[in-house]
Amino acid sequence: MTWHYNCPECGSPMSVDWTRHKEETVCRKCRRRHYPPTPDEDHCAYISGQKWPPEMEQVVISRRGTICVVPGCFATYDTLILRKPISLGGRISVDNLLPACFRHSRERGERDYDEWARELAEQSATSMPKESEDVSSLPKLPPWSAPEPTPEVVSCVQTIASGCHLNLRSVQPDKPVVVAPFLRGPVRRVVFDFEWEVLGGGDFEVALVAWPRGEEPGLEKYGSEDWDGLAAKKEIQVERDARGDGCVVLELPVSPAGRWKAAVLLRGSGDFRIKEFVLAGID
Ligand SMILES: [Zn+2]
Ligand SMILES: [Zn+2]
Repeated sequence: MTWHYNCPECGSPMSVDWTRHKEETVCRKCRRRHYPPTPDEDHCAYISGQKWPPEMEQVVISRRGTICVVPGCFATYDTLILRKPISLGGRISVDNLLPACFRHSRERGERDYDEWARELAEQSATSMPKESEDVSSLPKLPPWSAPEPTPEVVSCVQTIASGCHLNLRSVQPDKPVVVAPFLRGPVRRVVFDFEWEVLGGGDFEVALVAWPRGEEPGLEKYGSEDWDGLAAKKEIQVERDARGDGCVVLELPVSPAGRWKAAVLLRGSGDFRIKEFVLAGID
């Protein structure tokens, strides 16, 4: 089983044996050392072999859910199917795998999923009762709708971290409440989208910082003149109990590529909490 991906440093096609995809390797083109991306980090990286590894299935399920992808079917998935079959040039990548129940994975056979789903939708529409039949008393149900076709060029959204039903509170101003690594790849901006709640009132600041691996910025310097790292922030002022949502976007410089870390700092005096959040990289 071979893992095919693009070098995170120079973008050249690379491949390693799957069993070694967590080990540092050297790019054949740019000679730079790097860790191959995981399936979660690169949705277009693919496996050549017969079957996807469990780690890849986990990523597909976390993105697509555990219910069969066929519209109108609410069965729990039994297997993954390839949206575009290998015979039509599809690959075993996170991007090309969908959860399906056994029945639908068998019925679909070797056809392109999008085409097949369109056929199903048309059949379902034509099998609806005709207008001439007395259905006026019945509520009108919409026919199955075919899934939105996915554009060929998928813009990059890399979920770096997320959480819900939380009570994230700052213990110390320089101790981040979220720290997560991410692979730079095509990521040009990091976005922190959050829901907050304040008990009482106060002035608060949610700061998003990021740095390339190995260049620790020294978070205790954040907010002082000595800080020279990347940061973006959102200020929130409230007078009494309140809740709301916010978003901080941090633009990254053009270089370097490779592995980065993002962190979120909460500052202010008073009881400020983050209840839900998504931290993502986008292009
Ligand atoms: Zn390279
Ligand atoms: Zn199904």
